[in-house]
Amino acid sequence: MPAEPATATSEARGTAPGSGRFAPSPSGDLHVGNLRTGLLAWLFARSTGRGFLIRVEDLDRVKAGAAQRQLEDLAAIGLDWDPPVVWQSQRLPLYETALERLTAAGLTYECFCTRREIQQAVIAPHGPMGAYPGTCRNLTERERQQRRAEGRPAALRLRADVTEFTITDRLFGEYRGAVDDLVLRRGDGTPAYNLAVVVDDAEQGIDQVVRGDDLLPSTPRQAYLATLLGLPVPEYAHVPLVLNPAGQRLAKRDGAVTLRDRTALGETPGQVFAALAASLGYADPNTPSDLLKRFRPDNLPREPWRLDPNGLSLPSTCP
Ligand code: GLU
Repeated sequence: MPAEPATATSEARGTAPGSGRFAPSPSGDLHVGNLRTGLLAWLFARSTGRGFLIRVEDLDRVKAGAAQRQLEDLAAIGLDWDPPVVWQSQRLPLYETALERLTAAGLTYECFCTRREIQQAVIAPHGPMGAYPGTCRNLTERERQQRRAEGRPAALRLRADVTEFTITDRLFGEYRGAVDDLVLRRGDGTPAYNLAVVVDDAEQGIDQVVRGDDLLPSTPRQAYLATLLGLPVPEYAHVPLVLNPAGQRLAKRDGAVTLRDRTALGETPGQVFAALAASLGYADPNTPSDLLKRFRPDNLPREPWRLDPNGLSLPSTCP
């Protein structure tokens, strides 16, 4: 299978920049942490002359109407994007084609393990934390048939031939992380996030991925998968998350954390945008376009933003 080196970004290939993106899961309203990541993705893309795309990652965790509300909230804080918005649920053939290619190259296998069996399996002493122990990797055809006959649903896993892979991140620098025999298609037939994201980013011409740094550990897997599929590896920037006062990742239960919560308290979307900008070190921009002129990625705070939703102080000079 053709494989490009992990450094094959558009800059390295000397081609025009493609697009950046924001890819929310429509599981509910975006909170200020999600909005801040969306704003950063927009700033990174637009400040480098890239397009900016929105992809609705609706293969699971879908709440009816949430995607539309997310788009409305992004627009309300002043972000724009290039149409069309794409929905992963409408792109299933793309993921199946990628799976067929990997399978034809001998790079997949069926896995019949339940979650519980995986948890109980003894992990090889030097295997990465949480890595799949490889139980189904070398089943004979007969053993596979037996399990199918028992009615066990089969997930499809990658037959990885590395245990680690290195990526370069705009904020973290070189990052080496674990690669295991990750699930590509779940037992219920749903394409796995790690496959869909790789296929979509390449198919959409996305060459810059800006997202929360909770996803950094998944990135070596995704970059490795891209190289196996002969797809270019995008440039990455994993940005710090927003934490609650107890130092945990911000969540809906922390209080008034969504744009709609804040507007119900009498704040304007412009004020919420200004609070996000202030958290990035920029005082008093009126709009994202205004902020864009001043945006310097190298000056971004590298620490998480600690936020007390009950004391979210908004600049008083904003519209
Ligand atoms: N859909 C994922 C999320 O909302 C983001 C995936 C990505 O940016 O790669 O957490």
